Amino acid sequence: MADMPALDWARVEQLVEGCAQCPLHQGIRHKVLGQGDRHAPLMLIGEGPGEREDEEGLAFVGAAGQLLTRMLAAISLPRDRVYICNVVKCRPPRNRTPLPEEMAACLPLLRMQTALIRPKVIVLLGATAARATLNPDIRITRDRGQWTLRKGVWMMPTYHPSFLLRDEQRKPEAWQDLQALRDKLMELGLYQDLYGA
Ligand code: SF4
Repeated sequence: MADMPALDWARVEQLVEGCAQCPLHQGIRHKVLGQGDRHAPLMLIGEGPGEREDEEGLAFVGAAGQLLTRMLAAISLPRDRVYICNVVKCRPPRNRTPLPEEMAACLPLLRMQTALIRPKVIVLLGATAARATLNPDIRITRDRGQWTLRKGVWMMPTYHPSFLLRDEQRKPEAWQDLQALRDKLMELGLYQDLYGA
């Protein structure tokens, strides 16, 4: 039997670029792998690319991405010190929620990214990402801000920044979650590394 190719970033990039495992690749402009520090102890996972992300081939670059950058800055985390990506790498038409079968098709790629990054902490941005990766029964308004230790990785769901743009009243809860994130990073001795102090 032929040896399996070793998993590395070049292989993951190649797999994502060539992927046609679900219909979402039809009609997109760019696949969106994700970007940031590939050695970061903190990984942020959203739902899927939007219009700007599809145009530029980068994750979280639209209005929601700009809010995410400000949210990270609020706890003194430079965005380029974390890794940011989505559950699905292709933009769903009209920004609809990815279907369960589309997420299932794309999850192996996310697992490969996670295996390469080996984060200590993962923040799940929004109900879709939290349900796809942590627990299908998650209700974001009820379960946000709660930590789960899974295979040595601390995982916490919180609101997606695009939801916060639509519902400003949720921002105090998002701020609580950010503080919980900062506390967890401090507790694990990772905060200084990320902050670069
Ligand atoms: S969304 Fe994921 S599984 Fe579907 S075609 Fe794009 S890269 Fe492949």
